[in-house]
Parts: sequence; C-alpha cells; structure tokens
Amino acid sequence: MRKKFIAGNWKMNMDRAGAVTLAEAIVKKAGDFPGVDVALCPPFVYLEAVQKVRLGSPVALGAQNVYHEAKGAFTGEISPGMLRDVGCKYVILGHSERRDIFHESSADVNKKLHAVLAAGLSPIVCVGEHLNEREGGQTMDIIREQFAGSFSGLTAEQMQKTTIAYEPVWAIGTGKVATPEQAEQVHADLRKLIEVRYNAEVASAVRIQYGGSVKASNAGELMAQPDIDGALVGGASLVADDFLGIIAGCR
Ligand code: PEP
Repeated sequence: MRKKFIAGNWKMNMDRAGAVTLAEAIVKKAGDFPGVDVALCPPFVYLEAVQKVRLGSPVALGAQNVYHEAKGAFTGEISPGMLRDVGCKYVILGHSERRDIFHESSADVNKKLHAVLAAGLSPIVCVGEHLNEREGGQTMDIIREQFAGSFSGLTAEQMQKTTIAYEPVWAIGTGKVATPEQAEQVHADLRKLIEVRYNAEVASAVRIQYGGSVKASNAGELMAQPDIDGALVGGASLVADDFLGIIAGCR
C-alpha cells in the first residue's frame, strides 16, 4: 500500500518571516495526518529557517532544484550533499519551469537524478505535456520520451526510491485542473511503463503524484483515484489552510 505524499513547491515566493510563519502553521497541524507524508520545498535561502521549524515534526524538507556535481567551480550552483547537510530529504527535479524557462533537458534531469540518489536523497521527478501536445494526441508520446530520458539507467531499487510527479503543463498555475479521469489515465500508463521496464512489484511501489492547480476543493476526488498517490502543489501550498485542506483530502 503506497502512502500518500503531499509536497509544497513554494517556487520563488516568500521572505524569511513569511516562510517561517507558513512552516509553523503547517507543522502545528501536520501531526493530525499520520497517514500522509508531507514535505515543504522553500527557496534555497530559506531551507535552514524552515528546517529549524520542522525539526522533530513529521514534516520533511525538500529543495526545488540541485546541480549534479558534488563540488567545485560551478558558480551559483548547489550540490546534493549541501542539501543533505542542511536537512533536506527530498529534491524536485525536472519541473516544467526548469525544463521550459531554463532549458533543462531530460538528459540534464537524468544526471541530477543519479547524483541525488547517490547522495541518499529522495527525488521527485516531474513529467508532463504541454497543451498543444495534449490537443495533438501526443500526451503519452511525451511522457514516454521524458520517462526514457529522465529515468535512464536506474536500478529497480533506485526506481522505487523515486517519486514521479505527473504535471500537465497546461494545468500548472492556470486554475485548469486535469479531470480525475485524465490524470488517472496518465498515472496508470506511467505505472505500466515502469512495469514493462522493471516488474509489477517495482511499479506498484513507486509513488506518482499529480500536480496542476490542486486545491482543497479538488484534492479529494483526485486522491481517490487508484494510481494517484499524492500531489505536488504550487500556488495552494503558499496558504497554510489551503495546503492543510489538500492534506486532509487524502483521507
Ligand atoms: C507546480 O508548480 O508544481 C504546481 C503544480 O503549481 P500549481 O499547483 O500552482 O498549479
């Protein structure tokens, strides 16, 4: 049985005081939901502040990105070891904003994924199609291509430690949520891809989150789908009650 997993991607939002206040409000209530894993992914510079708030609570810390090298002359970059050092458990990789705005390819994501796993961190790897690709009937071609490129070379054990976030790009920050049926279809197809590459046991162990305009009002029906194991939440993760409402929707 896969445990549901809700992660908040704060993106480039908040100041230090706001990050602390938001984390405190979530940490205070997170103990009410022992059946759900919860992670907060603030901007790099607020990781330590949020870590102080979450220490001793069931809420985990995550980062939004990482560089694949361990150390050296890579100005402006952050290594997996540094993230572990400040208390991170999770790292989001291959978010569509990284792929589209910063031109990260699936090959880049794959290098990061191997580095993150080697450092003992838990990756959350995003995949998802654009609107024109969905309308052109190419959704699964895109997902298959991203899966092949981003997850290349993983052992079965590494695959099981990796969370996938299915995030249709047309649903991110737009208020247009995929219907539970649309999301479930892609999640089930993704699980099939894992089964074909590995086996049924690995496929049934991997958590697949949905992401794209998840709110407290639509979380329940999305989370009730058999292959949806949680959510990667953007906008609604910036308001404590909204985020807590999504966690509550996992019941
Ligand atoms: C995201 O950026 O991962 C995301 C899902 O954003 P939103 O919830 O705002 O659509």
